[in-house]
Amino acid sequence: MTTTILGVKAPTKKCTDGNCPFHGSLNVKKETFKGTVIKRDSNHTATIEWFRPRLVPKYERYEIRRSRMRVHNPACVDAQVGQPVFVVRTRPLSKTKNAVILSVLVSESSSKTKAAPLKDAAEAAA
Ligand SMILES: [Zn+2]
Repeated sequence: MTTTILGVKAPTKKCTDGNCPFHGSLNVKKETFKGTVIKRDSNHTATIEWFRPRLVPKYERYEIRRSRMRVHNPACVDAQVGQPVFVVRTRPLSKTKNAVILSVLVSESSSKTKAAPLKDAAEAAA
């Protein structure tokens, strides 16, 4: 079992996935991505997306460009929809996948700050 990949520690959960970079035999490359999970499917696959500004010289303004990517989602990572994730390039895993999720990132606007006011509101209503 691999304990650390590109500075990311292995998740505490274990899995039997051969395509898991921590518990399986999958090697990762050094190209990395950050994105948000927008879709999950049953076969340990997720779709991530991220946005980036691109300058339009004629109008001297920025337009927002979107990138999407299909990635492997190992059982031990199990990223959920809406979570920001750290992804690395691998060998092709299927027709559309050549990357794997290494870890779920803790977002700046973490769920704690969002959940707290909701809880307070629920308690006030109760
Ligand atoms: Zn694993």
